[in-house]
Amino acid sequence: MTRTDYDALVVGAGPAGLTTALALAVSGLRTAIAGPPFAPDPSRPDTRTTALLRASVALLTNIGVWELCRPEAAALNIIRIIDDTGRLVRAPEVAFDSEEIGGQPFGFNIPNTALVAALYARADTLPGLDVIETKAATKIEPEDDAVTVTLAEGRNISAKLVAGADGRKSLCREAAGLSTTSWSYPQVALACNFEHADPHNNASNEFHRPAGPFTTVPLPGNASSLVWVETAPEAERLAALSSEDLAAEIEERSYGCLGPVTSVGPRATFPLSGMRVRSFAARRIALVGEAAHVIPPIGAQGLNLGFRDAAILAECAQAGNKDTGDAGSGAALRDYDRARRADVDSRTLAVDLLNRSLISGFVPFQVARGIGLHLLANLPPLRRLVMREGISPQFGLPRLMKQAVSPAYEI
Ligand SMILES: Cc1cc2nc3c(=O)[nH]c(=O)nc-3n(C[C@H](O)[C@H](O)[C@H](O)COP(=O)(O)OP(=O)(O)OC[C@H]3O[C@@H](n4cnc5c(N)ncnc54)[C@H](O)[C@@H]3O)c2cc1C
Repeated sequence: MTRTDYDALVVGAGPAGLTTALALAVSGLRTAIAGPPFAPDPSRPDTRTTALLRASVALLTNIGVWELCRPEAAALNIIRIIDDTGRLVRAPEVAFDSEEIGGQPFGFNIPNTALVAALYARADTLPGLDVIETKAATKIEPEDDAVTVTLAEGRNISAKLVAGADGRKSLCREAAGLSTTSWSYPQVALACNFEHADPHNNASNEFHRPAGPFTTVPLPGNASSLVWVETAPEAERLAALSSEDLAAEIEERSYGCLGPVTSVGPRATFPLSGMRVRSFAARRIALVGEAAHVIPPIGAQGLNLGFRDAAILAECAQAGNKDTGDAGSGAALRDYDRARRADVDSRTLAVDLLNRSLISGFVPFQVARGIGLHLLANLPPLRRLVMREGISPQFGLPRLMKQAVSPAYEI
């Protein structure tokens, strides 16, 4: 085998790419990550927050990131689902309370900017990981023994495995020849953070409305993040409101459950769409994060799926390296592809069905959603099962996502 610069090269330094690079490096692989540094356009600040489920927090702890960003995150202990469709078939309110399954939070909500800053801080100091700043990777050439990546500045880097974390328009995906299925929804999500007078008590509130969910998720202090899914014209109207008028609308839509809304931060809109690859890896290139799957911001699944990609790819690549000295071997890539399919497919389908059951005028769809919520409200064992599976699926949890022993994980 030819000598390569690295065992693994990650292309794209977004949250999924940085996490993948750290997971590969702590698994003992010579790793590099290449991409433009995270620098949101000041005219379009990153208003997103990420609700990280328990297994994702365990991963961040195990790769030495959680202790760097824990103060900026708020624990998520209660998830309330409220039927606000106003339709004939109304479902009861369902409250998932972490006290029912031992009291540890379901997860933590953190601003994207704080998460990415902590990932960078750790990547800059972790031995065995090189951070290469570049405008872009411009050419990806997979060969039998290695992949050669050319950067915009002219440098060539070779690695046995390339992790394509270069987002929705992935060049890595194209180089691997991996095809996609894409779809769109007639909705737009408005995302912003806001402050309120009453405490949130670490509860998230998900109001199911006819145009999509309106979801508040706790942030530190008396603050919450909001993802409000609406029809495109209504989202446009909301995005153009003054801060005072938007605050009044948020207070009204949340039925004052957080008290008066005292201020609203910058807002951004995201048209809803979906995409998934038919296969997750080929030609020494494995895809992670939104290069592999895009799902609407409903139910906090997108980056949690990306984190599972990262931890599982690290496990497969480490096994390939140990068995044959080749982190990008055919066996490693096949194992990765097999491990990711069911998880990504089932989460994509669940989010799609929930969204369609809200916006569809088809009554049987609405009845099915109502029955599901009735069962969850009235059957505590079912509720507990859903909570456990929702926060950390028991099948095939990779080593790096198993509960961390570090005290940083305790709240
Ligand atoms: C409103 C909203 C709320 C959300 N809330 C949640 C939540 O609560 N929980 C959750 O799990 N998920 C959530 N998500 C989803 C989550 O934000 C995304 O899954 C995540 O940001 C995707 O990260 P990524 O690293 O895969 O992609 P990106 O952030 O798009 O990163 C891709 C990176 O690749 C780089 N790149 C592109 N091309 C090249 C190239 N040729 N060479 C080098 N680099 C390149 C880009 O510059 C970028 O840095 C939410 C999304 C939205 C819109």
